[in-house]
Amino acid sequence: MRILSSLIDLIYPPRCLLCEEFLWNDPVIIQGERLHICRSCLSTFKRIDSPLCPSCGRPFPADTGPDHLCEDCLREPPAYDALAAPFLFEAPLMDAIHSLKYGGKAHFARTLGPLLAEFAFNWLDGSDVSIVMPVPLHRRRLRQRGFNQSLLLARYVANALNCELDFLSLVRVKSTPPQTGLGRKERLKNLRHAFELRKPKKVSDQLVVLIDDVATTGTTFNECAKVLKKAGAVEVLAVALARAVLS
Ligand SMILES: [Zn+2]
Ligand SMILES: [Zn+2]
Repeated sequence: MRILSSLIDLIYPPRCLLCEEFLWNDPVIIQGERLHICRSCLSTFKRIDSPLCPSCGRPFPADTGPDHLCEDCLREPPAYDALAAPFLFEAPLMDAIHSLKYGGKAHFARTLGPLLAEFAFNWLDGSDVSIVMPVPLHRRRLRQRGFNQSLLLARYVANALNCELDFLSLVRVKSTPPQTGLGRKERLKNLRHAFELRKPKKVSDQLVVLIDDVATTGTTFNECAKVLKKAGAVEVLAVALARAVLS
């Protein structure tokens, strides 16, 4: 296999997904995967740093002191135990995620997946995770797109954590319009009763990690977590590749 892939590399040398530079030298290797991104493009992904809300992961402007709960989490603690993301949802990462989701470029997951997996592995730091679940798409959306981008990313996370990947139990039963451009309240209304668990017994007493490509208000994760907690999950942690910050 290695010889074959070296041959393919010779015929079709790998290029950076973003700037299309050839990746001859100095490859970025994460989680044992050679990423199709150059170091200079990778360095443009904006990392989320403290200070942030340890519950929903929302970053605060610099110089606002140490990590602290945000107003929303203080007022109404989310159903998930914590949410975190490595990067801000800004260009050029945003363009890469859009290409993955809407441009049919499923192979982008081979680069974005290991980045998410590495972050999840460090953030979860030895937690006893039993199941990794991608946020599901409604079957109509899945048919249109042909794949669930969250599942493509979740595969890498489950691999890194060496635990089960379950993409069948949690289902989206309500077809919701895209959440883009909606405020928190409208998102909530849109997603109410949108998710169901097919095998509720399975998550009882388990630590479940939910995976999505982008988190904005955390509403989607919250609705999924409600269903999991109701079925007896002891802990639900949510990880997204990127975090959009509503102004
Ligand atoms: Zn590049
Ligand atoms: Zn918060």
